[in-house]
Amino acid sequence: MLTGMKITEAVDGLRQKKFSAEELTKAHVNAINKLNDRINAYITVTADAAIEQAKAADQKLAAGDAPALTGIPLAIKDLFCTKGVKTTAASRILENFVPPYESTVTANLLRDGAVFLGKVNLDEFAMGSGNLNSAFGAVENPWKRQGEDTFLVPGGSSGGSAAAVAAQMAMGATGTDTGGSIRQPAAYCGITGIKPTYGRCSRWGIIAYASSLDQAGPMGKSVEDCAIMLQSMAGFDPKDSTSVDKEVPDYRAACNRSLKGMKVGIPMEYRVPGLSPEIEAVWQQGINWLKEAGCEIVDVSLPHTKHGLATYYIIAPAEASSNLARYDGVRYGRRVDGASLDELYANTRGAGFGDEVKRRILMGTYVLSAGYYDAYYLRAQKVRKLINQDFMNVFDKVDVLLTPTAPTAAFAKGENQEDPVQMYLNDIFTVPASMAGVPGLALPAGLSSQGLPLGLQLLGRPFGEETLFAVGSAMEKAANFTHKPTLRAGGSL
Ligand code: GLN
Repeated sequence: MLTGMKITEAVDGLRQKKFSAEELTKAHVNAINKLNDRINAYITVTADAAIEQAKAADQKLAAGDAPALTGIPLAIKDLFCTKGVKTTAASRILENFVPPYESTVTANLLRDGAVFLGKVNLDEFAMGSGNLNSAFGAVENPWKRQGEDTFLVPGGSSGGSAAAVAAQMAMGATGTDTGGSIRQPAAYCGITGIKPTYGRCSRWGIIAYASSLDQAGPMGKSVEDCAIMLQSMAGFDPKDSTSVDKEVPDYRAACNRSLKGMKVGIPMEYRVPGLSPEIEAVWQQGINWLKEAGCEIVDVSLPHTKHGLATYYIIAPAEASSNLARYDGVRYGRRVDGASLDELYANTRGAGFGDEVKRRILMGTYVLSAGYYDAYYLRAQKVRKLINQDFMNVFDKVDVLLTPTAPTAAFAKGENQEDPVQMYLNDIFTVPASMAGVPGLALPAGLSSQGLPLGLQLLGRPFGEETLFAVGSAMEKAANFTHKPTLRAGGSL
């Protein structure tokens, strides 16, 4: 089946004329038509435009002038501005926003020939860990627990991206990761994703959540597929002052590097209470695989890990409260009128934002307010520096760290929702790397006893993505994770 292929296979198949880009795109459009009502991964499907892009791709292939992603159908998280195509951030406040420009990352993918199938669902403004906070409804994880018919979440905030790839409604997807939003949904949906080093991909044209943490990255069916996508997405952009002017290496070539002599750190602070024994077992399995591949395993300590979540949930809301001030009903987006300007703001923001976004704005405004700035925001910034220092110290001794991606497998809608903090605990393993700005790759490593994917995470030095691709590829071979999701209520891919 065309939709069952990896990008690496499709790239070859297109060049060998086994099928056309138009056929490949149409197969994915059919999959979307069949499954999207159930999974709700796509907010906007751009089928006609995709077929036009695919026809153009076929011409390029015929002319022998086809860049790496020519004809490859992708899903775009609805946080990337796409010229002429509605971009909502899964919020009512941007429900009808049509950007007049293209984000740098999506422009790079288009330059390299990718076909865009549409815009995929997320937690509103990327705030969440279950894709339950979308104004356009929850996304369903295509995986289910054996012997149960429970609605499981795909993770968040890039839940639509992860579900679309897992359900074969796209060959790959873009995601963004502020505190784990690429890695945690990848883990819950049994796919691979990488959050690159902060500054590796341009943030220009991506709707901002927390600017000092936000990073774009690819989500795909394999490590090599992610390498191909990141190759295109990454690069210096003068329009983003935090994007780094550093050459993009050949990530695909890095996938085949030998691991001989590499040192892999196991951070003791990640053995947290409440870690599922099954995840602990997969972690041990991962350690064994890397030993067999010739790596040396070293126990290491990242002593400030325990402050990661608390400080993240100060800094991220602080930046969000400032970034989201622009949604005032005056310049763009939805407007709800009022008798005065203040009332117009209040009415617009009251109607436009969902509960979690309001909570973050309140938290963020509080920690930035005159009386509390030093006690919360400034202190959190100092702790952030210590977290970063922990990683830099450890990377003097080891090349890469191996940890679980999330403390549990995918949870059910309704679980983890007793209070908002319960949901925040999901990010315990992903947030520290975000705070430090270092890259992290998540990949599926095994199945739980209930038949759900369990993920492992590799963390690397700043701009050490090649090492992550090399180690990730070796682990992927050892794990040989070929399981496919079975949908609820007798559905099938
Ligand atoms: N779950 C985290 C949050 O809600 C991370 C989200 C993200 O990475 N965008 O902030």
